[in-house]
Amino acid sequence: MSEQQNIAAYQAKLAQYIKLGSVSAQYQQIQATAQFLQGIFTQLGGQVQVFSDHKFPLVFADFPAATPAANATTLLFYNHYDVQPADPIDLWQTDPWTLTKRDGKFFGRGIADCKGDLFVRLTALKNYLDAHAGQPPVHIKFLVEGAEEIASQGLQDYFEQYSDLFKSDLIIWESGSKNERGQLRITGGNKGISCFELSADSASRDLHSSNAAIIDGALWHLIDGISSLHQHGKISVNGFYDGIAAPTQRAKNLAHKMYFAPEQLSRLYELKYPFLQGSDEDKIKEAYLFAPSFNMEGISGGYEGTSVKTVLPAHGVAKFDMRLVPGQDPAEVAHKVAVQLHDNHFADLKVNYTMGVKAYRSDMDAPLIQQLIATAQTVYGGADSVEVLPTSAGTGPSYNFNHYLHAPIAAIGIGNPTSGAHAPNENVTEADYLMGIKVISQFFTNLSQR
Ligand SMILES: [Zn+2]
Repeated sequence: MSEQQNIAAYQAKLAQYIKLGSVSAQYQQIQATAQFLQGIFTQLGGQVQVFSDHKFPLVFADFPAATPAANATTLLFYNHYDVQPADPIDLWQTDPWTLTKRDGKFFGRGIADCKGDLFVRLTALKNYLDAHAGQPPVHIKFLVEGAEEIASQGLQDYFEQYSDLFKSDLIIWESGSKNERGQLRITGGNKGISCFELSADSASRDLHSSNAAIIDGALWHLIDGISSLHQHGKISVNGFYDGIAAPTQRAKNLAHKMYFAPEQLSRLYELKYPFLQGSDEDKIKEAYLFAPSFNMEGISGGYEGTSVKTVLPAHGVAKFDMRLVPGQDPAEVAHKVAVQLHDNHFADLKVNYTMGVKAYRSDMDAPLIQQLIATAQTVYGGADSVEVLPTSAGTGPSYNFNHYLHAPIAAIGIGNPTSGAHAPNENVTEADYLMGIKVISQFFTNLSQR
């Protein structure tokens, strides 16, 4: 089939894929979607295995190359076949489970995150295989999980069982997006996170507030303890910054080039306080990507109703998240908070660690990542058409991928700032969809000439 015919044929399959409505949170169509992908990969000539050790099957497809030279390089595409619920359905202008083309855009739940990306990759591979007697450019693998939208449940178990199968030299992450300036963004890695609660119990029940002259209440005590940990963005937990891997100069340079306008952010949210780093844009950008943070999500206790209740609360609780950088361990960080409180007369405050994940930052100088960046620059129209970020400021499961597979990670995809992943009217432009196929196709060609 011609390239155009393949594009059309895979678009039709993508419509079926979106129709499947694979919402992991509701365990909707999960088995059926894994089977659907098994069929797609098999038709394409892959050796497919569907692992069902866990409630959410993992689909693995292997396309080994013909020669030892070509097999020396392995590329792994990571995607997920699950999506977010479509709610609120009323806000969709077209049916979320029907791939709809309108005004140069494709609409449908999962088109940007990340069903469209998988089909961009499959179309590129199909075109390459057709043009090369069925032989892939290098060893190619696809790993498609079914529970990404619910914290990748079971993925770690699959890694522990089968990570030898998934070994690769470069991991292409599930999706990616253009930035607000229209540059294609290639990102490596994520910050980590440590989530915990601090709680204080000062008595068996609330007291009359006349007792405040002689008794410290749980809420004051909790706030005093919290204050001892943090002042104006500076985290004063003993050992908190220990072991942090400083960003390289090149990573810093990439951060400085990032499209990020503090002014705009300030206007958008009508910020009342200056940035923690002052007005130095480079410092703000470095902190955004490379500095750990300590956020209080909420605090509660005592009387929170209208008017007055003269009560001395016996209980208070506050929730926190710390964004972490490479070199920090989420549980260890929560433990350091407990030690700090203990050593500063707040031993009674309870630290309840709830969840965490480590950070991972790609070396954007890794040769295969460099090759991907160069390919994207050629396809999209020059060095300025691509923005390279060593990490995103958000959190994701990239640490586990690197930990088990020992390969650098790069995210590249077909989204844009108004794609609305997880939101109603999720969309990508047809132009970005076609460019996505082009860039992966060109990457295959360049890899075959290594
Ligand atoms: Zn996703």
